[in-house]
Amino acid sequence: MTDHVRSSLGSPHGGTLVDLLVPEQDRDKLTDEARNLPKLTVKERELSDLEMLAVGALSPLTGFQGEDDYRSILQTMHLSNGLAWTIPVTLSVDDEEAKRIGGADAVALTATDGGEPLALLQMSGVFRRDRETEAKSVFGTEDLEHPGVAALHAAGDLCVAGELRVLALPAHDDFVEYRLTPAQTREEFARRGWKTVVGFQTRNPIHRAHEYIQKCALEIVDGLLVHPLVGATKGDDVPAEVRMRCYEALFEGYYPKDRAMVSVFPAAMRYAGPKEAIWHAIARKNYGCTHFIVGRDHAGVGSYYGTYEAQEIFERFEPDELGILPLNFEHSFWCNRCEGMASPKTCPHGEEERVSLSGTKVREMLRAGERPPIEFSRPEVADILIDAMRGRDA
Ligand SMILES: [Zn+2]
Repeated sequence: MTDHVRSSLGSPHGGTLVDLLVPEQDRDKLTDEARNLPKLTVKERELSDLEMLAVGALSPLTGFQGEDDYRSILQTMHLSNGLAWTIPVTLSVDDEEAKRIGGADAVALTATDGGEPLALLQMSGVFRRDRETEAKSVFGTEDLEHPGVAALHAAGDLCVAGELRVLALPAHDDFVEYRLTPAQTREEFARRGWKTVVGFQTRNPIHRAHEYIQKCALEIVDGLLVHPLVGATKGDDVPAEVRMRCYEALFEGYYPKDRAMVSVFPAAMRYAGPKEAIWHAIARKNYGCTHFIVGRDHAGVGSYYGTYEAQEIFERFEPDELGILPLNFEHSFWCNRCEGMASPKTCPHGEEERVSLSGTKVREMLRAGERPPIEFSRPEVADILIDAMRGRDA
């Protein structure tokens, strides 16, 4: 393990923050060039990856990955150059598309059929996906019920690799003020004088338990970045725009403005559990975080992963390979005897003293227009969720 690339705290993964956006003055010329190239429409999930690549969230990657890296990641959790990496970032095509663009040196990537080119991909190779190995390595299962495996099967058989030159970021009309790039979050941390920053990944509304975990982490660092994922999630997750309203209400009422901020993470959710925990941590390092919160069953779904697997996987890397420190947390709750938030690590009392509700129970209450206890959920957050549930059922 001595050939692994080392990484220092605070610097981007691999040492340099990637920026694939073509300089303003070259954009028109390249856009004209791109219009004459074969076009490839990028689907929603890979469009999120394109955006992540463009802004350097996936530094040091400079494009969609080729077969060497693909194989290396699946077999060793490292790029072919030895840098830690756990989930391949690929651009899928089917056989027909591959035939259509075959022989071209470059293709223009668009978000919609016949749309304006977003990026030029300098093709360096096309390879056949090894679905079985990929599913087992990334998701730990080949079960088609797993949303990540299902997405993998829906994607094309072939992958097109190559460096990207990005002409425009995918357009968004939501969360515009929250879409900070890694360069921008880094700048904001510096402006606030934060030297250590903990990142919190979330795809759920934040209840007291997660608020507690974030604030425990914040006690030992300078700043907190709540970084909700807003790319594709599975259909039964709470929609991003509802979640954002919850975060805003929570920040308004309960978070110190000079110590905490919200920005969005454009990635699509993989539900790859431990592998995604590492991938999420590396991306947050690129956004400038020095610490990363890993809860129980991070990025999990169903019962595919062990409760602590996403925490344990960090031990399989040398500490300076990742360059971001995981902060592991237990499930937390309000304890009536402790009269405060606690976890099994800090509270000696039994279940009967603890205010804990299952996800199903909480959804039931919200649907019935009932606020969960204030020890479980801030009333402002509960009200937003109640409203959203009503809207959905109506
Ligand atoms: Zn207690």
